[in-house]
Amino acid sequence: MGYLKWLGHAAFEAEIDGVKIFFDPWIDNPMSPVKLEDIAKADLIFVTHDHGDHLGNVIEISKKTGAKIVAIFDLCEALKKECSSIECIDMNIGSLVELDGLKVAITPAFHSCFHGHPAGFVVKGKETSIYHAGDTCLFKDMELIGEIYKPEIALLPIGGWYTMGPYEAAYAVKLIKPKIAIPMHYQTFPAIKGSPEEFKKHVEDLYPATRIIILKPGEKIEF
Ligand SMILES: [Zn+2]
Repeated sequence: MGYLKWLGHAAFEAEIDGVKIFFDPWIDNPMSPVKLEDIAKADLIFVTHDHGDHLGNVIEISKKTGAKIVAIFDLCEALKKECSSIECIDMNIGSLVELDGLKVAITPAFHSCFHGHPAGFVVKGKETSIYHAGDTCLFKDMELIGEIYKPEIALLPIGGWYTMGPYEAAYAVKLIKPKIAIPMHYQTFPAIKGSPEEFKKHVEDLYPATRIIILKPGEKIEF
């Protein structure tokens, strides 16, 4: 059985088909239910972009577990310069490829970053498929991501200010049509005020077929 656990902010830990993955593991975030020393195993670490609240503890986790970092080409180049011992799989926005038995695509995100281009990820296994949107505004091509990759679970930023707020994220749900949507990237610090209850209410109006699960840091869903 697989699971998906929220580690606060945009950080998630999951196991799909026995592969242990992390998205944007900023374990030092103020909402994190775990400490770096609690993390013993990781196979793949997906990094959406290189702002500190996403790049977080990626290098430390990779160094201690041997996990491969998956990121956009230019960010991989920068990370390899910073730490030559890490393994970084560079990809770019475009297609679904196989990594450790999972299917992975980098998707566009509209945001800013220091290296390359901000991104999201679709990760598909036999047990489930997850779309982590990264930091982004709402964009119409989310509809295409939903149509061609059919993610069962969508992880969407709702905090506003730097990303979508609750209404835009609810509209994203309507475009993507996942079975489950989980809000992230809210209330970690004062600027990102977006409320998960408001997000849920908007989804009930715009696309009630999707179930909203509001996780507390450390809570997980199983599949
Ligand atoms: Zn962010």
